[in-house]
Amino acid sequence: MDLEEARLGLTRHQQTYGVDYSTADFTPTLCGLWGLRTPAQSLGRAIAPVLELGHHCFGAAGQLEKALIFCPDAIGDVLWEDYPEDFAALTANSEVRIKSSTVMPSVTPVCFASIFSGAPPEIHGIQAYSKPVLTVETVFDVLAEAGKQVAIVASNNCSIDKIFRDRKVDYFSLRSSDKSFEFTKLLLHNSDYDLIVSYDGSYDSNLHKTGARSDEALQAMRNSIARFVELAGLIDAIWGGYNRLLTFTPDHGGHDNEETGRGGHGADVYDDMVVNHFYRLRQAQKKH
Ligand SMILES: [Zn+2]
Repeated sequence: MDLEEARLGLTRHQQTYGVDYSTADFTPTLCGLWGLRTPAQSLGRAIAPVLELGHHCFGAAGQLEKALIFCPDAIGDVLWEDYPEDFAALTANSEVRIKSSTVMPSVTPVCFASIFSGAPPEIHGIQAYSKPVLTVETVFDVLAEAGKQVAIVASNNCSIDKIFRDRKVDYFSLRSSDKSFEFTKLLLHNSDYDLIVSYDGSYDSNLHKTGARSDEALQAMRNSIARFVELAGLIDAIWGGYNRLLTFTPDHGGHDNEETGRGGHGADVYDDMVVNHFYRLRQAQKKH
């Protein structure tokens, strides 16, 4: 695959949906905040407003020290647009909202592979709903190389649980999103990881069962937002002595199938392809 062509593939989605960023920009941005190199196959671009916020927040010589990446599956821009009162707490608890196009097909393993490698599907190799262990470099490899301690907390056998294996990462696999969230809080309280990825698949599973805007799905969306807010308070309390980041990082959106009345995703349509990534940065409160 020609690299320039692959890079243009990311840009093409941005142009189609009129957005300035790709979800593949997440990894170069995170590496930039940490002052680390980007993964070898990354074609995303570091997001300037987030890096500027990092400089402002951490100081010119300062860098990110602790990060919690919260990954609510399938929460797309259309929900943010249609339920502003539900998202108010998320907006109030983050400084930057980065509206981004994801990659095709817009299914979980393909999208999270791009988010955490910076590479488009043609390069990272997952181009359909399958969950092989990724062979391209990821942000996890770069952080491990730099001596950072990384934990991934996810539901048993979900995409995030499977495709980033075989790295210098501690993998915590739980039976449900509820248990994953509770375990994430346990890790914050009882361990000293530098990066924690916490996957929340509850909105996505309700979308598939009962529809993208069913009462159950919307309640799961609200729960995920509440979880983000709870994590914000918790990391301020526990990681207060560190320059820190909390993100809300969904993989893709979703839409209802009119024939089945159930929700789904995977298509090259706005509802599936456009998401918001939220960043919350805080400066260390004291020297440690
Ligand atoms: Zn997904």
